Amino acid sequence: MNARHDSPSTPEEVLQHIWGYPAFRGQQRAVIEHLLGGRDALVLMPTGGGKSLCFQIPALLREGLGVVVSPLIALMQDQVAALRELGIRAAFLNSTLDAQTAREVQQQARRGELDLLYMAPERLLSESGLSLLEGCRIALFAIDEAHCVSQWGHDFRPEYGQLAMLRERWPQVPRVALTATADVPTRHEIVQRLLHDGTEFVSSFDRPNIRYRVVEKRDGRVQLLQFIRSEHTGDCGVVYCLSRNTVEEVAQMLAGHGMAALPYHAGLPSEMRARHLRRFLDEDGIVMVATIAFGMGIDKPDVRFVAHLDMPKSIEGYFQETGRAGRDGLPAQAWMAYGLSDVVQQRRLIELSEADDAYKRLSTAKLDSMLALAEAADCRRVRLLAYFDEASTPCGNCDNCLNPPELIDATEAAQKLLSTIYRCRQASNTSFAATHIIDVLRGKRGEKIDRHSHHALSTFGIGADLSEADWRLLLRQLVAQHLLDVDAAHFNVLHLTDASREVLRGQRRIHLKRREPGTEGKRRAKGGAAGGQSAGTRAVMQALSSADAALFERLRTWRAATAKEHGVPAYVVFPDATLQAIAIARPVSLDALRGISGVGDKKRDNFGPALLGLIEGQVSPDA
Ligand code: ADP
Ligand code: ZN
Repeated sequence: MNARHDSPSTPEEVLQHIWGYPAFRGQQRAVIEHLLGGRDALVLMPTGGGKSLCFQIPALLREGLGVVVSPLIALMQDQVAALRELGIRAAFLNSTLDAQTAREVQQQARRGELDLLYMAPERLLSESGLSLLEGCRIALFAIDEAHCVSQWGHDFRPEYGQLAMLRERWPQVPRVALTATADVPTRHEIVQRLLHDGTEFVSSFDRPNIRYRVVEKRDGRVQLLQFIRSEHTGDCGVVYCLSRNTVEEVAQMLAGHGMAALPYHAGLPSEMRARHLRRFLDEDGIVMVATIAFGMGIDKPDVRFVAHLDMPKSIEGYFQETGRAGRDGLPAQAWMAYGLSDVVQQRRLIELSEADDAYKRLSTAKLDSMLALAEAADCRRVRLLAYFDEASTPCGNCDNCLNPPELIDATEAAQKLLSTIYRCRQASNTSFAATHIIDVLRGKRGEKIDRHSHHALSTFGIGADLSEADWRLLLRQLVAQHLLDVDAAHFNVLHLTDASREVLRGQRRIHLKRREPGTEGKRRAKGGAAGGQSAGTRAVMQALSSADAALFERLRTWRAATAKEHGVPAYVVFPDATLQAIAIARPVSLDALRGISGVGDKKRDNFGPALLGLIEGQVSPDA
């Protein structure tokens, strides 16, 4: 940053004057200090943890240009727009710019007129990119989404490996690699490939404001509709589906029920994708129905729910996708419908993939961890954090904590199930699918039973005490634990596995998890910052008195008009949390406005008069 004599000169001053935040969070201060000292660092923070400030503030305080490498070119524009609203001299260079604009940005960089420059990796590594940087004084390199360097990871980008050369060319310039995807092997890979050495700053991965819920999938789409209707009317959310077809059908279904739902997947025309993304970012209350192609690096802070209609293939994926909810720290929900089909489908995808055996084993292990999380009867957050090597205690803000399922010893039932599968195969020399096996267990006569004479089996009718739904639940748990195999290539017939024997011999106990139907998530925790309310904008509203709520609504209307005028997303003007604080505190002077978190000097000067007018109720929000 140019040494204007009134410009803030310590990290705290920058934070307070430019961003308007009262204090640093977690490790932010330590990382900033470290980079200001010219050293390299790896920063691991969950989504919404505040990674950006870790490099933005040192870039402003060190002499020269902060270079930010990010693969998310679609989002650079908004990131840069948000910085400019704060009065920071930022720009980006990527393939979306026309030649003329790109030249202007390059000239600004050369003349030292920029504090931060966002670049796509291939742009930076090109001849012209490198020669541009040779001509600039560089304050630091920030490599965002650093897990893209991991060859095992799901976001692998070959260009990322070449970023190692930054050290050779600019040995004096500190580098910081940042990511929210953080199992231990990935961490090592990032350090090894990008930094060689460098201190690791690992934050807690907990996202306490996110409520985790997994529901038994019956009719997933109907359940989704009910979930959004009953708990998230008018809220912004993301719904993830595995296939493009499902994406389109679900978006249509939700839209047919009057919701502002839009599809997003790689098969849509790029113009339509861009338009849907724009609407999602700019407007309030859009529900984006998408494949996982959508959302990487989306930093929209007020996403109130993330719903999964299909199970992700790893905990990393689940954590990353659900992490897009509630970046603003207000209550948000991660909801997933999960059933046997998810297990079968994901296993089959691994089987059919052309990857080598080592990769398949790794994928299977990752899937099994995800299944264990979905099947868990205890605190989901504890399990999630344990996966990232973090110890914790039951959270009080997940379905299992709020409404603990009843656990029944189902070892005997499991033995009945497995031996029925065994006997049917013995008797008929062929294998059968779940429906038939359950009919035998429950003693339900029918054409197929008669044809195979399975009513003569000793296990016929020994399971009449359990409902069909219970048997399916048990079956799913056995499949998830590899105690039973579903052959998806052959009509979903069931096979015993080597491990089945442990259950049959009584060496392994099985528990059936049962929840009263319809109680999922209905009971609420009492009290607690994130626990007491239903999530959503309604939660924001409930925290306000009716007069405050009316002001909050006026502020939102003003924000929508202002965002449109500035050509930026609504949250770039101010996030909900800031509007909420203004509605409650009702500051009456520009000075008092400065005490509100999220109101920095530039925004106070630009928006202060309008805000004060709205607070006094003299100005209509559309003015
Ligand atoms: P991520 O780690 O996902 O990149 P961001 O850097 O986008 O997170 O930060 C998430 C949100 O938290 C942003 O709206 C940001 O302005 C806000 N934020 C970051 N640090 C602070 C802080 N110290 N005080 C208040 N808000 C903060
Ligand atoms: Zn919990």
